[in-house]
Amino acid sequence: MTGRGYPLVEDRVQAGMMLHARTEERPVSRAEMAEVLGVSRSKVSLEVGRLIELGLLVEDGLAESDGGRRSSLLRIPRSAGLIACVDLGATSTDVALATLGGEILTHRGEPSEIKDGPRVVLDRAKEMLAGLLLDEGSGPRDVLAAGVGVPGPVEQASGLLKSPPIMPGWDGYPIRSAFADEYAVPVFVDNDVNVMALGEHRGGVAKGIDNVLFVKIGTGIGGAIIADGRLYRGTQGCAGDIGHICADPEGPVCPCGNRGCLEAMAGAPAIAAKAERCARSGASAALRQRLEERGRLDARDVGAAAALGDHHALDIIRESGRIVGRVLAALVSTLNPSLVIVGGGVANIGHALLAEIRSAVYRRSLPLATRNLPVVLSELDGMAGVAGANVLAAEGMLQKASAV
Ligand SMILES: [Zn+2]
Repeated sequence: MTGRGYPLVEDRVQAGMMLHARTEERPVSRAEMAEVLGVSRSKVSLEVGRLIELGLLVEDGLAESDGGRRSSLLRIPRSAGLIACVDLGATSTDVALATLGGEILTHRGEPSEIKDGPRVVLDRAKEMLAGLLLDEGSGPRDVLAAGVGVPGPVEQASGLLKSPPIMPGWDGYPIRSAFADEYAVPVFVDNDVNVMALGEHRGGVAKGIDNVLFVKIGTGIGGAIIADGRLYRGTQGCAGDIGHICADPEGPVCPCGNRGCLEAMAGAPAIAAKAERCARSGASAALRQRLEERGRLDARDVGAAAALGDHHALDIIRESGRIVGRVLAALVSTLNPSLVIVGGGVANIGHALLAEIRSAVYRRSLPLATRNLPVVLSELDGMAGVAGANVLAAEGMLQKASAV
């Protein structure tokens, strides 16, 4: 296989067929494609022939008989090409290679600091991707598209970060063109929480659910909205960016300059700061011991102390859950989702966090909105970001083609 031309497919019907084959994650029949896309079987057969010629579909097994001659099933082969998936967090970088069919083939993650700036972080992400390609016996020309999730607000039209509070040096940085030296492919950039929500919606706990609210609790706090089966981005692309909603007008000053933002009150740094105060005051012996051993505390230390029964640590976790839950309750009343997902590095520091979020949401939202409303942990967890970057890039590329 060598580098392909763009658009990858020739028209809307071909794009729809490829998207359907991706979504189903199993070989599909011509009859099924005709029904889903609302076009004739002969049109589908014609386009299937073309997609097989292009190397984007292959025949695989036989369809159930419907009286006539049994036709073959179709799937997207690995040789169709690869998607480069990048998930940049405040303190970690994850990269993966996925097939156009949607399967994650290989993944690598390591700690990093988004504060080191775009050049250092993106160069390392590209190096990690090059390593994965080499391991797979592939090269840059096998890559069809790249998807990148970043922990800040992204303007949809330009793909540029706009005044990201925790990302000094990234404001307006051209991430798409940073990948252009290695990969002559379309690059899609979006906020990390939107990307994680896409991952959960296409292949995780939200699969098949049309109205979903996703909240990520990590160094920052963000939200993403799936409405009527589609990611809702709003006018500029920052819908769901809930981290700087005011949770307490008298609260601590946030890096954004305002006071009492959700993120400054309940995110990982806030949890760590409360724990350090509690350790220094001597209130919690368990936290004090950890602080003396390590010189600092993070949200995981608080989770570990709570798991050992330290009630001060448990109170810190509960307080964060309560604060997040109050803001989520307002969103649940506004959006009436049928599922709320809690993800991100802090989500797993103890069951008390989820329990407290749940009870705040149930207590403060409209009873009608919370009837049968599950509030659950992310299923893909640490892989949600790369899985979503795969969806963002592959669907973005195919939808772009269908708009031609
Ligand atoms: Zn703020």
